[in-house]
Amino acid sequence: MTHKNINGLATAAIHACSAVMPEHAHAMPIFATSSFTFDNAAQGMARFSGEEKGYTYSRFGNPTTDAAAKLIADLEAFGITDEKGNTIEAWGLLTASGQAAMATMIMSHISAGDTILSGPSLYGGTHEFFHSILPRFGVGYIALDLNDTVLLEATLQQKASIKIIHLESPANPGMQCIDIAAVSRLAKKFDVLVTVDNTFATPYLQQPFKLGTDLIFHSTTKFLNGHGNAIGGVIIGKDQQSLQKVYHTYKLLGVNANPFDAFLLLQGIKTLATRMDRHCSNAAVAARFLQQHPAVSKVNYNGLETHPDYELSKSQMRHAGAVLSFELKDGFEGAIRFIDKLNIFVRAVSLGTTDRLVSHPASMSHAGVAREQRLKAGITDGLIRMSVGLEDITDLIADLEQALST
Ligand SMILES: *Cc1c(COP(=O)(O)O)cnc(C)c1O
Repeated sequence: MTHKNINGLATAAIHACSAVMPEHAHAMPIFATSSFTFDNAAQGMARFSGEEKGYTYSRFGNPTTDAAAKLIADLEAFGITDEKGNTIEAWGLLTASGQAAMATMIMSHISAGDTILSGPSLYGGTHEFFHSILPRFGVGYIALDLNDTVLLEATLQQKASIKIIHLESPANPGMQCIDIAAVSRLAKKFDVLVTVDNTFATPYLQQPFKLGTDLIFHSTTKFLNGHGNAIGGVIIGKDQQSLQKVYHTYKLLGVNANPFDAFLLLQGIKTLATRMDRHCSNAAVAARFLQQHPAVSKVNYNGLETHPDYELSKSQMRHAGAVLSFELKDGFEGAIRFIDKLNIFVRAVSLGTTDRLVSHPASMSHAGVAREQRLKAGITDGLIRMSVGLEDITDLIADLEQALST
């Protein structure tokens, strides 16, 4: 949709839901229905052939899930115009989880014999999908430092089988950033598709379409929903046409989201901008506090001047985000002690909820990974990951301070 009279992304998040509301409902209703009726056989035929617009079956599309997908697509496209100066009409498909979005997006665009290229740091589920599922279908996978453009160009030149470059920026655990515009430029030259996991940033902090990306996916479970009450995902293309292959796979795998979760997501997105501003300002204060603390040996936060990707992150993101990690000098034991002493922080994996979540990857999410392999990925024994919430910053810092004291 075009955002008439809307100049800011915060306004768009609240008002851009373009669905026509039945009975003038103010909030998008939950359409809990599997099928949609036809007036007569001719209409059924016209709906299925695509001659007439309209719903048929909720695995193919549903008003509540479509409203949430379109809203996120509108935010990803916000302020981006085509050559003619028209705002692009991005399109989205809502899925049952972030994993479903990633897998559907990737599977729609690869075949046996193809190779996927990515950066060295990937979300665990994506990494495992590339490593343990795709090889069974004859799809290869290479990881390299995508900011090394000389190496990237040489690799693209050598390996014609590369069909997708998959990016995550910022990425766990070090909050490393990738120069999305530079990678997209090179990818165009070699006719390679660029896909981005924009979960950590959300469209409020970073719009990959502005930087030349082809497809975007999110785990909406995190900051987009924002309240930790539903698992979900979304795949976004620059226009409906660009999602045609994805839609075909989507319908046949049956990865659609349900209308109840879509409703919760729509509620959450209304406050996206306000929440992100607070999440990010709290994270910046927490990062600075941790950086000067004697019990902490290293803080990974792309909003700190000492982070190697500080300038890059500033150039492509509005704020640096609200996820950070840090290393405790006392290693594994120190990390366990710290986690157990926290009062306000909630011990849980995941991120992007209103409250703060803290996890110890070495004993939780990565406990099953061999230590050597874990260390190679930067997940040291004393590494703590934190998703900074919306609480009063003074409470946050006080809790960190008491948990760090010995
Ligand atoms: C959580 C997450 C995913 C997977 O999403 P689910 O909703 O858990 O399936 C993918 N990428 C990133 C960066 C994530 O944080």
